[in-house]
Amino acid sequence: MSKILIVEDEEAIAELEKDYLELNDFEVTIENSGDTGLATALSEDFDLIILDLMLPGIDGFEICRRIREDKNVPILMVSAKKDDIDKIRGLGLGADDYLTKPFSPSELVARVKAHMARYERLVGSHMKENDIIEIRGIRIDKTARRVFINGEEKTFTTKEFDLLTFLAENPNHVFTKEEIFREIWDMDSIGDIATVTVHIKKIREKIETDTSKPQYIETIWGVGYRFKV
Ligand code: CA
Repeated sequence: MSKILIVEDEEAIAELEKDYLELNDFEVTIENSGDTGLATALSEDFDLIILDLMLPGIDGFEICRRIREDKNVPILMVSAKKDDIDKIRGLGLGADDYLTKPFSPSELVARVKAHMARYERLVGSHMKENDIIEIRGIRIDKTARRVFINGEEKTFTTKEFDLLTFLAENPNHVFTKEEIFREIWDMDSIGDIATVTVHIKKIREKIETDTSKPQYIETIWGVGYRFKV
C-alpha cells in the first residue's frame, strides 16, 4: 500500500483529505505542524507528501527545501493563495505539483494518483537513488535519460543531455570549453569547441527561466562554464 504524508495545520481539511485517500487505498499519516511534519518526512519513507504552505513553526517553503536535500519523494504543495503558487514555482524548490485551496477531494486524489504513476515509471523500485541527480528544480534521471524542470519534462539531444549531466555531476567546478569538448565529444570527432557554446545555449533555453541571467550554468568569462549550486 502506498504511504502518504499530509502536513496540514487545519485538522478538518487534513481529515477530509485522509478520508478520501484512504477510500482509494492509500495509507495516510497526518502531521499538524511544520516541525513535526519535517521530522516525520525525513525520518520515514513516504511515496508522496502533501504539504501545506502556511504552517505553525517551519513553513512549507523551508520544509520542501529540506526534504529535497535528502529525498526524491514527490511533493504536492497546497496553498490558499494563488500568489504563493507562483512564488513556489519561481523559487524552484523542487515541488512536483501545486494545488490552490479550496480544491475538491477528488481532484486531490486524481493528482496524487497521477504523480504516483509517474514516479513509479521514473524511479522504479529497482533503480538506485544515485541514478538521479536533483539540483534545485532540475531532476536528471540518468538511467532513463530524462530531464524534468520543476516537474515538467524537457527533451534533450544526446550531447545536450551528456553535457548537462557532466556539469551537474561536477557542481561548482569550472571547466574550460576544451575540457568539456574532450569529455563529451570524441577526440577524433569532427567539429570544434564552438560547438560547446552552441550546446550550452540550447541547454540554457530549456532549463533557465531567463537565459540572460542563468541560474544554473554560469559563464566564467575567459575560462569556461560551471554549474552553480
Ligand atoms: Ca495552513
